[in-house]
Amino acid sequence: MSFVPDLLKGKRAIVTGGATGIGSHIVRKLGQLGANVGIISRRQESLQTAVKSFAADDNLEVHYQVGDVRKETVIQAAVASLADKMGGLDIMVCNAAGNFICPTENLSANGWRTVIDIDLNGTFHSCKAALPYLKEATDGGRIISISTSQANTGWPTAAHAGAAKAGIQNLMQSLAVEWGPYGIRANWITPGPIEGTEGVERLITAQGRTDEVLEKIPLGHFGNGEDIANAVVYLASTTGRYVSGTELAVDGAARWGRI
Ligand code: NAP
Repeated sequence: MSFVPDLLKGKRAIVTGGATGIGSHIVRKLGQLGANVGIISRRQESLQTAVKSFAADDNLEVHYQVGDVRKETVIQAAVASLADKMGGLDIMVCNAAGNFICPTENLSANGWRTVIDIDLNGTFHSCKAALPYLKEATDGGRIISISTSQANTGWPTAAHAGAAKAGIQNLMQSLAVEWGPYGIRANWITPGPIEGTEGVERLITAQGRTDEVLEKIPLGHFGNGEDIANAVVYLASTTGRYVSGTELAVDGAARWGRI
C-alpha cells in the first residue's frame, strides 16, 4: 500500500511515544513520505535505539527529546526544542499512553490517577505545547490523537484507560472548534487490537484472550501498525483538509463486536 511519494515533504511532525509500537510505525510512515519527525518519551535508551533503527532501516534522521507528557513544563520544553530543530511544527501526534488490567473494584486511586495523567493530561499538555507552532503552520496545523475502540463502549477491567481515552476524544472535539479558526484540525483514531504491540501482548495474549477477541472482530484478524500509520497520513495530509473534530476508526469493526 503506498501514498504519493513526498506527500508530506516539508512537513514537520512530533509523535509522542514514537520510539515503540504503533508510534514507531507512524514515525516511519511520516518520514518515508518526506516529513521531518521528532519523538518524545521518557526512556532515553529506548529513544536512542529507535532513532538508530529509523536511520538504519529507512535512512531517516529522526530527532528526539526525553520527556514525560505528565509534566507540562517538560513537554513544553521538549516540543519547543524539537520544533526549533525542525524549523516549526505542522503535525502533532498524541500517541503516548499507559495502561494495565485491573478490575475497577480493586483499582487504587493512584492507579486511576496515573493513567488519566499520562493519557488525558499528557494529551492536553502536548496540544498546548504544540499550539504556538501549529498556529504558524503554512497550510494549517493538525492534531491527531490515538484513542482506542473501547473509549466509545466502556472498558471493563481498564476503566481508567477507557475514561481517559473518552476524555481525549472530547478534548479533540473542543479543540477542533476553538482552534479551527487558527486553521488547526483536531481528530482522533480509534485502533482496534494491533498485532506485535506490547499492548496486545500484555492486555490480550498474556490474559489468554486471543481466540475470544479474534472471534469478536468482524474482519477476523488483528490490525497492524501500518494500518494506523496510513490513517494518520490521511488525516495529516491535504487529503483530510476538511476533516476535523471527528473519529477515524481503524479496528476491523471491532467496536460493533464489543471486544
Ligand atoms: P507502547 O509501545 O507501550 O507505546 C507507548 C509509548 O508511550 C512508549 O513509547 C512509552 O515510552 C510512551 N510513554 C508512556 N508513558 C509516557 C509518559 N508519561 N510520557 C511520555 N511518553 C510516555 O504502546 P502501543 O500499544 O504502541 O500504543 C500506542 C498507542 O496506541 C497508545 O495511545 C495506545 O493506547 C493506543 N492503542 C493501542 C492498541 C494496541 O493494540 N496496541 C489498541 C488501541 C489503542 P516510555 O516508556 O519510554 O515513556
